[in-house]
Amino acid sequence: MAIDSLRRCIEAEVLPRVRDNWNRAFSSELAHELLQIVHPYGIGAGWLPEDGGGMGLSYMTSGLLYKELSRLAPDVAGMAYVSEGAAMKIYRHGTEEQKARFLPGFAKGRLLGCGAVTEPGTGSNVRQLRTRAVKEGAGWRLSGEKIFISNATVADVLTVLAKTGEKEFTIFLLDRSEHDFQSREIEKLGLNGWSFGSLVFQDLYVDDAFRLGGVGSALSEVMAGFERARVWVALIATGIAQAALENSVAYARERDQFGVPIASHQLVQRHLADMAAETEAANLLTLKALAKLDQGGRADMPSSLAKFYASEAAVRVASRAVQVHGAYGVTREFPVERHLRNARMLTIPDGTTEINQLIVGRELTGISAFLGAAGANKQAAS
Ligand SMILES: Cc1cc2nc3c(=O)[nH]c(=O)nc-3n(C[C@H](O)[C@H](O)[C@H](O)COP(=O)(O)OP(=O)(O)OC[C@H]3O[C@@H](n4cnc5c(N)ncnc54)[C@H](O)[C@@H]3O)c2cc1C
Repeated sequence: MAIDSLRRCIEAEVLPRVRDNWNRAFSSELAHELLQIVHPYGIGAGWLPEDGGGMGLSYMTSGLLYKELSRLAPDVAGMAYVSEGAAMKIYRHGTEEQKARFLPGFAKGRLLGCGAVTEPGTGSNVRQLRTRAVKEGAGWRLSGEKIFISNATVADVLTVLAKTGEKEFTIFLLDRSEHDFQSREIEKLGLNGWSFGSLVFQDLYVDDAFRLGGVGSALSEVMAGFERARVWVALIATGIAQAALENSVAYARERDQFGVPIASHQLVQRHLADMAAETEAANLLTLKALAKLDQGGRADMPSSLAKFYASEAAVRVASRAVQVHGAYGVTREFPVERHLRNARMLTIPDGTTEINQLIVGRELTGISAFLGAAGANKQAAS
């Protein structure tokens, strides 16, 4: 029933607002309006426990809702899950004052958040980051640049990872209405409604009251958040694959060539069968990862498996969908070219395919191959 209500809401309220907007980032106003529309259905603050003002949904329930949203409007799903991630960081690590200040806004679907880790010189290896916060009086001076940040130009509340020592990482909360920093949108291949951009902090003074969690201890907190984020990328990918499959089945039944619907040609049916198998495999891996998240404890293996498989599968499924549509498939008149561009975005965030395969490899073998041959030699020597 919940999924059904959400679907009707998306069709009636979301799609009419975003249909002409698929190829540019939602303005801040539209992003907030969309959040307000889907928020009552469990999107945007569903994970927040009830004592944080949220709905306290299980990851499984929330995940099923997000998959439906992703089937129809994946840009909105991307925007909302990133925001929920920021709210959860505040719920888990915030002081009572920080929670009182920010959580009600997230819980009511008024605030959008983001998580800023990546930098121009720091992608897969988070430890390499350069953004620094240096203690000054009752606060910190924050300097650095972040890039490829989801919700960069629309977020009201930003969680920013910075170095506060040689091997120490600390999260700072920035409030767009109070802190002065630059943000810029970056154009990209797909998921264009979902804001994506850079942030620049120039000697920005941040009071210690905006430090989130302990000094120097943030890296493990950020890494733990990636487990959940990976499952959400897998959900978005599965929703996109599902949409590509549905569009292809409908088109194959309608399009007539050689006197019969193209669905009558065996090679077209093979495309559809392979697409269905990959979509279902992505779905099942993602459901398993959601169940593991609900059980608690570490979920590296199921979340990485779901993330890399579902995002790569969505690219293959969407590419076959274009093939089934022939030349119509590469035009903007049909949705499948957008599914392909959207799916192609998802093999990169929250750990690239390669990084997630390395996590799975490490879980299987007990050997970390992140540093390649040099790292393996070092491990063997020690
Ligand atoms: C849609 C989208 C949303 C994003 N949202 C956010 C966000 O909200 N916040 C944020 O902080 N960041 C975000 N990012 C950035 C994302 O986290 C990084 O792009 C990602 O971590 C990869 O970093 P990179 O792009 O610098 O690639 P690099 O790390 O430079 O990697 C380049 C290539 O080298 C490969 N590679 C790197 N190291 C290894 C290795 N050890 N072994 C094998 N191969 C390796 C990678 O797999 C990749 O193929 C987002 C990116 C996208 C596309």
